[in-house]
Amino acid sequence: MKEILLCKYGEIILKGLNRGHFEALLEREMKKRLKTAGAFTVTRSQSTLYITPCGEDADIDEAFRLCRKVFGIVSVARAAECEKNMESIKKTAQEYLPPFLAGCSSFKADARRSDKRFPLTSPAISAEVGGALLEVMPRLKVSMTKPDVVVMTEIREDKAYLHAGSFPGAGGMPAGSSGKALLLLSGGIDSPVAGFMMAKRGVTVEALHFESFPYTSEQARDKVITLARELSEYCGKIRVHILSLTHLQEVLRDSCDEEYFTLLLRRSMMRLAERVADSTYCSALITGESLGQVASQTMQALTVTDAAVSRPVFRPCIGMDKEEIITVARKIGTFETSILPFEDCCTVFTPRHPKTRPELAKVEAQEKRYDVSALEEEALASLYTVEADAFAEG
Ligand code: ATP
Ligand code: MG
Repeated sequence: MKEILLCKYGEIILKGLNRGHFEALLEREMKKRLKTAGAFTVTRSQSTLYITPCGEDADIDEAFRLCRKVFGIVSVARAAECEKNMESIKKTAQEYLPPFLAGCSSFKADARRSDKRFPLTSPAISAEVGGALLEVMPRLKVSMTKPDVVVMTEIREDKAYLHAGSFPGAGGMPAGSSGKALLLLSGGIDSPVAGFMMAKRGVTVEALHFESFPYTSEQARDKVITLARELSEYCGKIRVHILSLTHLQEVLRDSCDEEYFTLLLRRSMMRLAERVADSTYCSALITGESLGQVASQTMQALTVTDAAVSRPVFRPCIGMDKEEIITVARKIGTFETSILPFEDCCTVFTPRHPKTRPELAKVEAQEKRYDVSALEEEALASLYTVEADAFAEG
């Protein structure tokens, strides 16, 4: 018996004339992701990608796990493929479905025909498949209103498919359908979630991390690369650019009024991010900021930060509570890494009483006290790049 995966796509269906473009992106991404699971063919028909094993080494369990992390897919079902006649369908139901129903007390059989020439109606197919299942699992009860499992028969163009329900996929839009943006990635909880949320909307993500060695450690940097690798399970390979802010932070500490330190640092981070975005063709910046979370994330502080750059700054966590952000972090598997206790450059030389309602003119006056552009050039010169890829071989 042949087991395949049926991956249904979501929002793409609404895309009208551009739909083909989005479907092609999704298919390309799926093929790329499945490479580590062995040989599979990927075909599309009727808002579904069919993932079919085509070699000895094809690992369907791994393919199932991977498919559920591809943006653009709303649900994934493991299904048995069989010939389009009732004899074959019933035999397949009796052989393939019982393990999925183990431990259940009730079920409902459902059917869908996209091939309307099939001689039986959907209710008739359901009744036959239900009956066949009861023959091999006589203790099961049929429940039309509250079944433990819904068993589905799909009659499609060439073949019939049987499955016992689908599992949620990652949702969102296919990778690469919404341009490219640069994620300011700290080792915290929020920024990986922010990156995930934008990637979910089809954005290709590159990352930028600021370090401040020796005030921050090598472990802190490794932690960020680990986070990027964890994110890459969803986003695909992520390039992580790393810049040193050590000298800039020291000069800032010695030149500015303490209460402005964090704001000035954040403005430099944004300007540097914009320069990196220029050279990497990223059209927007992404941060993990959330309104009111800390002094530098009040509305006034964010306004002063944004005034340093002209690119749009996406802050998908802006309206989320910490608990909500943590829920996503746990779901995507970054939380445990994020809470490892290594210092971030943002917490080096933090002021005791940071300004929460800064005025732009006063912030700009502070920036005249030291040579901002020379320090930023120096920071840029320290740039190096590593690749984080959960799918890289070896
Ligand atoms: P996170 O927000 O990721 O949990 P955090 O709360 O420690 O980390 P904040 O001080 O809230 O970080 O910083 C706000 C945002 O600024 C982060 O979400 C991130 O986008 C960016 N940021 C902070 N520190 C760094 C860094 N060292 N490198 C790159 N971006 C950073
Ligand atoms: Mg934060």
